[in-house]
Order: sequence, then C-alpha cells, then structure tokens
Amino acid sequence: MPPSDYSKLSRIELIERLKSLESRESAIPPSDVRQRLAGTELFDSEERLRAILDTAVEGIITIDERGTVESMNRAAEKLFGYDAPEVMGRNVSMLMPSPYREAHDGYLERYIQTGHARIIGIGREVVGLRKDGSQFPMELSVSEVRLAKRRLFTGFVRDITERKEAEKRLSYYAAIVESTEDAIVGKSLDGIINSWNRGAEALFGYAREEALGQPISMIIPEDRLGEEQAILTTIRQGLPIERFETIRRRKDGVLINVSVTISPIRSPDGKIIGASKVARNITDRKRAEARLASLAQTLAEKNRELETIVYIASHDLRSPLVNIQGFSRELSHACEGLRMRLSTEAPSDADRAEAQRLLRDDIPEALEYIQAGVTKIDSLLSGFLRYSRLGRVALKVEAIDMNELLTGIINAMEFQVKRDAVNLNVEPLPPSEGDATLISQVFANLLENAIKYRSPDRPCRIVVSGTANADATVYSVSDNGIGIAQEHQAKVFEIFHRLNPNHSEGDGLGLTITQRIMERHGGRIWIESAAGKGSTFFVSLPRAAQAQ
Ligand code: ADP
Repeated sequence: MPPSDYSKLSRIELIERLKSLESRESAIPPSDVRQRLAGTELFDSEERLRAILDTAVEGIITIDERGTVESMNRAAEKLFGYDAPEVMGRNVSMLMPSPYREAHDGYLERYIQTGHARIIGIGREVVGLRKDGSQFPMELSVSEVRLAKRRLFTGFVRDITERKEAEKRLSYYAAIVESTEDAIVGKSLDGIINSWNRGAEALFGYAREEALGQPISMIIPEDRLGEEQAILTTIRQGLPIERFETIRRRKDGVLINVSVTISPIRSPDGKIIGASKVARNITDRKRAEARLASLAQTLAEKNRELETIVYIASHDLRSPLVNIQGFSRELSHACEGLRMRLSTEAPSDADRAEAQRLLRDDIPEALEYIQAGVTKIDSLLSGFLRYSRLGRVALKVEAIDMNELLTGIINAMEFQVKRDAVNLNVEPLPPSEGDATLISQVFANLLENAIKYRSPDRPCRIVVSGTANADATVYSVSDNGIGIAQEHQAKVFEIFHRLNPNHSEGDGLGLTITQRIMERHGGRIWIESAAGKGSTFFVSLPRAAQAQ
C-alpha cells in the first residue's frame, strides 16, 4: 500500500498497525538510531507509522498512563494550533478547557485502577482548547494499546464544529416546523407519510404516531384520490405545486378546505425521494367567500326590488297626481266661471243657472277626484312605509304554538268566515320559532286572500296544514278559489301588484309584505296554483330560526 493511501485505513486497521509497531517497544527513535536502522524492516515500519499518522484525516494523539503526550499527528497539530514538540512531554489536559482539564487526571487514574471506562472504547463529544484559547466541539474516541510493560492510549479527535452547526440549524428548522400552525407533512414517492408536524396533528386530527407509515390517501376523500396520482406524477418530474386548493378529510370525517403547496424532496445527490407538503386550513375563508357571494346575490336582488319600487312609485303615484292636477285646473275654471257670472250687480237668470250648475256638479266632482287622488297617494305612501318599516324592526324570535296562533287569527276573522260561509279546516300544526306578531300577519294575509279570491261557482273551502322536516317546518294554506295562472304567479309578490284591480278591495301589498316577513325569518314562501281550480300558498320556517 503506498503511503498516500494510509488515510483510507479504517480506524480498527490503524489501531492494529499501531499495536504491531508499538509492541516492538519502539517509541520514535532518535535520528542516529534511525540512520542506523535505515533500510531495515524496523525502519520501514517506523516510517510507515509516521506516514500513517500524518496522512490520517483525524487528529491522533497518543498519551501514556500518566496522561503525558507521546505523539501528535499533523491533523491534531492543525486542530489544536500547536506544533507537536510544544505538546509532546506535557499533560494532555492542556488541550482541554476547564473543568475537563482539572478532572482529566482523575478520570485516567480511576480507569487504570478500576477499569471503569468513561471514554475508552466508547467515544463521546467533548470540548477541545486551541493554543489561541478558542474552544471547539470535538468527537473523541480513545483506544487502549497494551504493550508488554506499559499501556498507551490513542485518542482520535475530529472537529465537529460544522456538524454541530448543522445540528443546530436542523433543530432550529425543526422548531420552526413544529411551532408553525401550518400542517407540514413529508411523504415518500409512493405516498407513505414519513413526517407529520404538530400543525398536521391539529389540522387533520391524527397524532404523529397514527400518521407515520400510513398512506397519505387516509386524508383524501374518495372522489379526490385521482388528485394524488397527478400530484405524485408532477413531483416525480421535480416540479412544485403551489397553493393548490382542495378538500381533505379529518380523522373525525369532517371535510375541510385546504390550500396546499407541495415541493419535491431531493437526496444530497439530487435524486427526488419524496415530497413535502404544507397545508393551510382555508375553510373559514371559503365560508366567508360563499357568504359574500350570497350576500352579493341578495344585494343584487334587493337592487332589483328597489328599482321595481322606484318604478312603481313613479308610475302609481303619477296617475293620482295627474288627476289632482287636472281636477285642480277644473276647479279653478269653475271658480273663474262663478266669479264671472256672479260679479255683475244683477246676474241674468242664465248666469245664475250656470253658477248653480258649477256649484252643484263641477266643483264637487273636481273636489271628489282631488280627494280620491290624495287618498290614493296617502295609501301608497303608507304602504311603502309599512313595507320599509318591516326591514328595520328587530325580530322578537320565540317559540310559537302554531295551533294557538291560528285559533287567534280565525277568531278575529269570524265575521268574514260566517258572512261568506267559509268551510275552514285547520289541521294540527307543528310548533315553530319566529316573531309571533309578524307570523300572525302572514297567516292573516293568506287566509284573507283565500276568502277574498274565492270562486263564485262553489262554496269556499280552506285547509291549513303543516309538517316538520329535519331543518324546516312547512305550512300550507290551500283554497278552492279562482286560482292564479302560472305566468302570473311570480307577479303577485311584487309591491302593489294586483292581478285584477277591480275584483275586490286591496292595495296589492299583502303578499309583498308576507314574502318580506318570511325572508326576515330566513324562510320562504311559494305558490302552487291552477287558474280556475284553487291555490296553495306554502311558507317554510327554518327549525332554528336564522332571522336576518
Ligand atoms: P291584494 O290582495 O291587496 O291585492 P296581495 O299582495 O295580497 O294584495 O295579492 C296580490 C294579488 O295576488 C291579488 O290582487 C290577487 O290577484 C292575487 N292573489 C292573492 N291571493 C290569491 C288567492 N288565494 N287566490 C287567487 N289569487 C290570489
């Protein structure tokens, strides 16, 4: 073996060679002896020992039983910053900082007396002291070389500053990984989980021990398993996947929205060996987004409703206004006529008769139209007011006994029921929750309409019934009246809209208000009806009232 290759010797081989050389009791001989020995086998061994020691990468220091340094190789010189002659013959403890320095002789002595090893044959991390006073972490392992008359100890020293720094960096990163709220999961290329931080425990509900070694598919819903194949294919190509939004399943089965960033993990030689995935719970954000989208929809609907109201207001308020304007003009004409005819000292008979006519016919007629117009405007404005107030009053939500509520309404309607010979049947109704006054108003409206829009061809029959399902109670008011054609069914909820204004008294506001009340309770109203046969109005109220 050429000398340059000695560095490749294993530590055991090195010790073996040291033993075989040292067993000849040859400490490094003085130069005259070396000259004498030149060319002999012993000299070769001697040279070889030096070569071995000096080419070794590790620091090698040999001490005797008292701790005196007998030899120190080049690597050790470099490590400690001394030249070997400065150390040789002195106690090895000079290479250690306090308190190891003071304790060292004691350790050595105890070992020699008791054979109880603290370091020999074991190896441990200790601190070395350089000539310049600086300290460094080192790994020290000591081998004992027993010779015929004495024992030597060979210490192998390695500077582990870099390793320690790397360990520190690693534990720093590990602390970051552990303390982050994001779930950080490592997996192999075949999808087996090999790391699982505290964030992952919190997000997915599995403890680290439960997750390690398991397939990542355990947190993927069945219908998304295909995703994982696509992810692994991308990772195998060395490409990251950034902020991928998907759904994962927690241990308790709950599905959560997550945003995931997945990056390939490479071995030191650059081979892709797995993937790290950082997942963040975005369920709340998704929920907020969804809430916003519905809010936006409601806003758009409200906007449309407002436009309708403005249109109706301008349209419906206009006709009584036009009447008022026109008949005021008529009135002033009539007054002018009166003034002309009665201003002369002796009005003629014709003038008097005309004045009489104006007073009897034209003036009262004009006043009547003006008053009707004012009444109409008043009723429209108070309708608007009633409607707009509904959006502002706070709901007083309470449990409602619907049978009791209906009995109250029907008692108040007794006169109409009797007058129109209505056959009214209220079935047992499930209870509900809501603002009792407003819910009363809903049923009063529906019952009044059912009577008002009864058919002239048959006795009026009304049935009120109700059912409760998992999340809502649904009530219905059914009549056998004139019915509403399909194409008009949506119109009846529009403000002031009446299908047949001359049919009966009404302001076309009842169903608009009813719909608004249902909306405020988080419920809804809808119709099933056939023209000429009858109508059923359904109202549904959520079980736990989500009043808005
Ligand atoms: P109003 O009864 O004052 O006209 P509503 O808003 O209560 O106002 O009703 C709007 C319109 O819907 C009514 O004018 C009528 O044309 C129609 N309608 C309401 N209820 C019924 C019913 N039960 N059967 C037939 N048509 C109805």
